[in-house]
Amino acid sequence: MARYTGPVCRLCRREKMKLFLKGPKCDSMKCPIERRPYPPGEHGRDRMRQGSEYLTQLREKQKARRIYGLLEKQFANLYEEATRQQGITGENLLRMLELRLDNAVFRAGWAASRNQARQFVRHSHVLVNGRRVNIPSYRLRKGDVIALKEKSRGMIVVRHNVDTLDRQVPPWLEAGAEGFEVTVRDLPLREHIDVPVREQLIVELYSK
Ligand code: SF4
Repeated sequence: MARYTGPVCRLCRREKMKLFLKGPKCDSMKCPIERRPYPPGEHGRDRMRQGSEYLTQLREKQKARRIYGLLEKQFANLYEEATRQQGITGENLLRMLELRLDNAVFRAGWAASRNQARQFVRHSHVLVNGRRVNIPSYRLRKGDVIALKEKSRGMIVVRHNVDTLDRQVPPWLEAGAEGFEVTVRDLPLREHIDVPVREQLIVELYSK
């Protein structure tokens, strides 16, 4: 599946906030947002002023899309699916994003960023209910058990992440087996999704 391969920090600068796409660098002074907290490009500083209602909605959508690492079409398809489900469309959308396998690997604290989690999945380090799944967008269901393969648990990068990140799993996941296994205890509720996104603005954008 296609993915964005361009410069990552540029995306944060475009949204004028940290999206935490790079792991440890995001918490250090090397983060470009610390030094250049304005959009990239020659006219970046000119873009600091408040935009129109449409622009605000667009930026909110771009932010969500970039945090979870989806391309435009993938995000639009997910939104379409969210509209067909019962309940609040914006919350449906965020729930489906959270239930991606790469996001769960990130939430479990095994990967420093969603990008790295995606790579772990693509490289077949992750099992779902005991079976190898190498599709980052794989939609988890209640009761699914996600685990790192025995051999992969000893990888230096995984060890380093588990020792240094100290990430708490969200309430919709339950940690087990020495921290290398998590179970989807329940579907994520909005209050358990800590991404800085106003989903209602995304719904308004797509409803135009
Ligand atoms: Fe964003 Fe992290 Fe790059 Fe900072 S270091 S701009 S938070 S991706």
